[in-house]
Amino acid sequence: MRLKCPLCGERDRREFYYFGDAVVLARPDPDAGISAWDDYLHNRDNPAGVTRDLWQHEAGCAAWIVVTRDTVSHEVLDTALASDLKRAMS
Ligand SMILES: [Zn+2]
Repeated sequence: MRLKCPLCGERDRREFYYFGDAVVLARPDPDAGISAWDDYLHNRDNPAGVTRDLWQHEAGCAAWIVVTRDTVSHEVLDTALASDLKRAMS
């Protein structure tokens, strides 16, 4: 598998570190309550289809990247800098 780093271009998947579900970018407010924090810390979806995952270009520029991919077809649909998406979400 190859991933496109927005800064470095297309690279082999082995240059990247997989962190997990990109939902970690949508952190609840500090006073959101125990249920919201429990869900944020412990519960993750495992869909057959399109997912958004957080990866780091560990052997390259070290940028954090959100990869949108299809877990059924293994097609990578989009990559974007996590910092850009986090700014867009706030
Ligand atoms: Zn890079």
